[in-house]
Amino acid sequence: MPHNNYYQTIVDRDATPAEAERLGLRAVEFMADEQVIADEPSPCVPGGRMGHRPAEAWESAIVELDEYFLGLEFNGVEVVCGRQIFDAGQFASRPHCPECNKPRAADSAWQAALDGWREGDASASLDCPHCASRAPIVDWRHDTPIGFGCLGFTFWNWPSLNREFIERLAGVLGHRVVLVEGKL
Ligand SMILES: [Zn+2]
Repeated sequence: MPHNNYYQTIVDRDATPAEAERLGLRAVEFMADEQVIADEPSPCVPGGRMGHRPAEAWESAIVELDEYFLGLEFNGVEVVCGRQIFDAGQFASRPHCPECNKPRAADSAWQAALDGWREGDASASLDCPHCASRAPIVDWRHDTPIGFGCLGFTFWNWPSLNREFIERLAGVLGHRVVLVEGKL
């Protein structure tokens, strides 16, 4: 039976490809020191990949306790490196113009802008049919949010992460972050 896995990814918006791996290690060290996750990786995320299991103080990172969480097969934190668009999986993401804030269809032009950014064009942009402005795809607001970056921390099946924890992690990275929530 197919099983849905819910995820939250904290995406570093500013990390370069060259620094992503080092910053990823630094963030894992921070979270392990805080007892939020285990230091040693183990297979605890979908796809047989490695992640970090929740540790003794994992609750300090969340909003509200979920009694079933620790018994789940996939409840690790996965460090994801490499230039990519962190999307919301099964949740639809609708682009909204950064100038007039009106929504636009997630059509082939939108897809082309995403592909352009993915292939390395940092200024890949998209037209707004409402106000006729053209803005870089990274500046468009997406609802639900997506993240453009080279480094992300995916929390598999964790209850909602709290704002303070996300801000502290952003502080460790020294960068802007965006929280992407999705379902696989
Ligand atoms: Zn507009």
